[in-house]
Amino acid sequence: MRDSIRLSQQEINRLTERYDGQSPQEVLTWALERFGSQLAICTSFQADGMAILDMAWRIDPKVRVFTIDTGRMPQETYALLDQVRDHYGIDIEVYFPDATQIESVVRRHGINLFYRSVESRLLCCQTRKVLPLNRVLGTLDAWVTGLRRDQSTTRAEIHAVELDTDHGGLVKVNPLAEWDEQQVWNYIRAHNVPYHPFYDQGYTSIGCAPCTRPTTTGEEARAGRWWWETNAPKECGMHCSIESGRFERELLKTPALVAE
Ligand code: SF4
Repeated sequence: MRDSIRLSQQEINRLTERYDGQSPQEVLTWALERFGSQLAICTSFQADGMAILDMAWRIDPKVRVFTIDTGRMPQETYALLDQVRDHYGIDIEVYFPDATQIESVVRRHGINLFYRSVESRLLCCQTRKVLPLNRVLGTLDAWVTGLRRDQSTTRAEIHAVELDTDHGGLVKVNPLAEWDEQQVWNYIRAHNVPYHPFYDQGYTSIGCAPCTRPTTTGEEARAGRWWWETNAPKECGMHCSIESGRFERELLKTPALVAE
């Protein structure tokens, strides 16, 4: 049985100091060398994830990449998944929710339960996204995300290297933490990175088909996610755990609730 690599908070603090402010490629080079095949990139094929994948592949063409197929993705996302496989010549590890759990939730709450309440939406996200993610993360020592500080208030304080206490203390690597949207698109265009066709239709964040719409000028990038909700963070629980109470703490910070 392999030994897991677990870093102390002290070591993470040193790494934060070392890598915050460094280029995404420097952060990725360190992470790939440190964790090897026990590290994987988590992507939903949004622009940030695609830029990360491209950078990591140029450093190590054997880099592991995984995605969670919620079963409610737009057809265009599946098409991009296959396009990415062919473009880079890599396997994409696709993980699915537990069929019995989905059947039980749908039987009790309906297939489109997410429109009814924040709680119902979170139950769907928990079943279709968070639980499969937890299963994958339980096998890894580190994961890489495309999170950026400027995406939403819930992400404003992320670092390039973090201890992911929500998922058993593995390392979470956010190489784009300090980038903005323009830098991501500059990279994509300069390197001919494949990108999701929805961006050309006004979307600025892309998730499951029933829960995503295009945004309009002046809206936050993630405003099109669960657009009907006015009283919840734009998070599904993957980066803001419900079990640890982090989602609830973010919930209390939302302007709509504070104003009530
Ligand atoms: S984004 Fe919507 S469809 Fe997808 S898991 Fe969350 S609630 Fe369910």
